[in-house]
Amino acid sequence: MKFTEEFLNKYLLARILNKGYDKPTDIQTQVFEPILQHKDVTASAQAGTGKTAAFVWPILQSLVTKPDANKQLKVIVLTPTRELAYQVFEQFEYFTQPFNITPALIIGGEKIDKQIEQINQGCEIIVATLGRLIDLNNQDKIDLSNIQTLVLDEADRMLDLGFEAELKEILKFLPAQKQTLLFSATYPESIKSIINQYLTAPLFIKSSKENTVNKNIKQWIYEIDKQDKPDAIMQMLNEYIDSQAIIFCKTKRTVDLLDNILSERGFSIRAIHADKSQNARNSAMKQFKNKEVQALIATDIAARGLDIKQLPLVINYDLPFVPEDYIHRIGRTGRAGKQGIAISLVCADQFEELVAIEYLLTHIIERDMLTGLVPDHNVPISNLEEPKTKEEKKKSAQVKIKEGKPLSKRAKIRRKALKDKAPVKKKGLGLVPRSRLQ
Ligand code: AMP
Repeated sequence: MKFTEEFLNKYLLARILNKGYDKPTDIQTQVFEPILQHKDVTASAQAGTGKTAAFVWPILQSLVTKPDANKQLKVIVLTPTRELAYQVFEQFEYFTQPFNITPALIIGGEKIDKQIEQINQGCEIIVATLGRLIDLNNQDKIDLSNIQTLVLDEADRMLDLGFEAELKEILKFLPAQKQTLLFSATYPESIKSIINQYLTAPLFIKSSKENTVNKNIKQWIYEIDKQDKPDAIMQMLNEYIDSQAIIFCKTKRTVDLLDNILSERGFSIRAIHADKSQNARNSAMKQFKNKEVQALIATDIAARGLDIKQLPLVINYDLPFVPEDYIHRIGRTGRAGKQGIAISLVCADQFEELVAIEYLLTHIIERDMLTGLVPDHNVPISNLEEPKTKEEKKKSAQVKIKEGKPLSKRAKIRRKALKDKAPVKKKGLGLVPRSRLQ
């Protein structure tokens, strides 16, 4: 596929060019034809590779060739979170503008009556989260019998979040004869049973190596004691005062705690997690995207799919439960060819999570310490010695975790130098006076 009228409807092409894109990304090129040919496709692509447009364009190209005055519902895109649904919907909204094609957003936390009204008025495309769609279906407010294309976006995340039963429930109501497109940034084993059960002779498309991090992202960790983490965050927000950041926390409770600490100290932040009202989630996202606040504190609800233009910094306040989520979290930065920084705060009792991530990445993440916040509890040195098979890799990781390797001579000197506050080469995160915040 190329950005020419030979491949694309001219109005769709105009919208694409209007976005400032000059050529299709790898995933866009690869999936365009198969989707147009109505094949089932599973595609794994790194975060930020233009995955959404990769299915939006061929779906629209297909719909515009068969105009439908009745505006029957033909396409459903299912996403694991409301935020991602909103983002996908925005792309449909933008690209359908020249056509008489209507997309609708069907998510929880918003007024159901309005959504029913929209469905009744006719819409060819629905972007939905599972709960609300099931609700509408149970109330007989939506007709799923004419669905031609189903997109499962971030399908692995849907399963991670425990939506398997809901997904299967919806699949029961969709016609057996339809195209299914399954998109996912990572591609774990758990997804394979869904593919085997629900896709027909799917084409497997891999746009980039699985479980790899975008090379535009510079990552490192700061070893730190748990109680020093809020201070470390403040130090970093001061250092990167001109940059926006997402700060990921493992639990909703930690998000709230950090939110309170940073708000009390006058930092310009917002927080989101699943227990916040949809209004609060929307307004936090809006303020963050409009660059009205410096940082967004979030659980992994924000780890997938969120596309914040030119987000330079991701901070992991703690490491995620699932190692793959590390890749999703840091994939919020370094998007669309831009450079990004991903910093993780790691304390001694997170060593196992760290090693799991390093094995997934197949390399050790560079380490450093923050001046004045040198930990009393050492994070053992990880050592991924060239295991040959995946099994060996796992085994050797377990041994290393149990033993905890002693510090190297160099690390000891460095630790001492930092403790003594002697000049030492570091990442340049010196304190910035609070006055810069005013
Ligand atoms: P996604 O992987 O769908 O989250 O998209 C990541 C980012 O890439 C978004 O900001 C898109 O606007 C951008 N994008 C999508 N397609 C292209 C393209 N062909 N050229 C440049 N940027 C693109």
